[in-house]
Amino acid sequence: MNASDTIAAVATAVAPGQGGIAVVRVSGPAAEDVGQAVVHVPGQQDWQSHRVLYGHVLGADGQRRLDEVLLLLMRGPRSFTGEDVVEIHCHGGVIAVQQVLERVLAHPGVRRALPGEFSQRAVLNGRLDLTRAEAISQLVAARSRRAADLAIAGLDGGIQARITTLREQLLDQLTELEARVDFEEDLPPLDGDALLHDLQQVRQALLTLVADGERGETLRSGLRVALVGRPNVGKSSLLNRLSRRERAIVTELPGTTRDLLESEIVLEGVPITLLDTAGIRSTDDAVEQLGIARSEEALATADVVLLVLDGHAGWTAEDAALLARIPEHIPRILVANKADLPAGALPQPVDVQLSALEGTGEEDLVQALLERCGAAGTEGVLLALNERQRDLAATAAAALGRSQEVAAQQLPWDFWTIDLREAISALGEITGEELTEAVLDRVFSRFCIGK
Ligand code: GDP
Repeated sequence: MNASDTIAAVATAVAPGQGGIAVVRVSGPAAEDVGQAVVHVPGQQDWQSHRVLYGHVLGADGQRRLDEVLLLLMRGPRSFTGEDVVEIHCHGGVIAVQQVLERVLAHPGVRRALPGEFSQRAVLNGRLDLTRAEAISQLVAARSRRAADLAIAGLDGGIQARITTLREQLLDQLTELEARVDFEEDLPPLDGDALLHDLQQVRQALLTLVADGERGETLRSGLRVALVGRPNVGKSSLLNRLSRRERAIVTELPGTTRDLLESEIVLEGVPITLLDTAGIRSTDDAVEQLGIARSEEALATADVVLLVLDGHAGWTAEDAALLARIPEHIPRILVANKADLPAGALPQPVDVQLSALEGTGEEDLVQALLERCGAAGTEGVLLALNERQRDLAATAAAALGRSQEVAAQQLPWDFWTIDLREAISALGEITGEELTEAVLDRVFSRFCIGK
């Protein structure tokens, strides 16, 4: 990777027949030249920063029009990356935008951007801290309003501000300690108890952030819920009812298998992928067997299984067989549907009684579902550290935990500084104050190309 390269990529999602427009993003010293070479701008339009120009992208022959475009020039440092950036807004879909990108890449000194490379440059040029760069990625990936809210909180600098405050408290303590290490006799004595107390407060704050982040994770990644039950117990009715609560914005998820019926809904801000495993039945038919294999796979990858029974008909041997097929380690919720009708015999205790027809018991089901997956109580979560950030916060908390031992053993001040430095360094990695290749790698390797 070389920051003097000019990089280019399609910054928008690419899909055939999709999207009115697509954006090719170019960043680096050659960006403006590339724009001028690739886009033919007719008439009297000034090449000024932060102005939109109108033109055409021409083929290599300089004649054939490949697309009609708008060009946005943003000279550094007033751009996303902090470098000169040119965005070419072309038509959506696949072909036009690919042809435009090819024309851009044909320019000397331009190469394809690596995943996350635009954001990485923004960080290296001081336009974004790491937590904000990660928040952008999370905003793009958000599947529920709550997940988007959390991403926005990160983008507003909430995580950065919180971590920086804690880190600065530790830096102040470190300064005090280091002064004592060097000039103990010239300075007023340091109160070890008060110091320890302060460090443990920071540790507590970090542990709270880690716990909130874990709960926030379900808001981000969502849950896979397998819906199981014999025919006519009311699975579709239940699914319909649940999907009416809060419309998921994303209905077609890329990469979902079409063999299994998957629907995306949102419950209390948690994105939920419902897997309809209707195919699970005993059969000798080869095609059916294939369907069953897939359903079993769905069962195995589910975070929780909803087994729906017909509470009116009562418990049947088929229900028992389905229950037996649920892998041991996966939490399950037994739902007796049709509670509006007289109850049949239910020897097996059920978790929720509901009527998909009338809606009674729906709330109990939602709560049971979220509790079973540890996703309950996410309302209070305002900041959610991602996994990388949580690891580092936990490392810092552990280091601060060790200072209790150091205090108990009444070790000299330089022993305190060891743990304190480790905590400070871990927190610095969260925001990118301490940037290393490894940190950059860990963050940006997860990004898509064009981000
Ligand atoms: P599925 O095969 O499991 O998806 O079951 P459906 O959702 O298609 O429902 C089968 C039948 O049961 C339909 O006639 C529904 O109207 C009826 N049904 C579903 N839920 C209820 C309920 O809570 N109460 C009553 N009385 N009927 C229901």
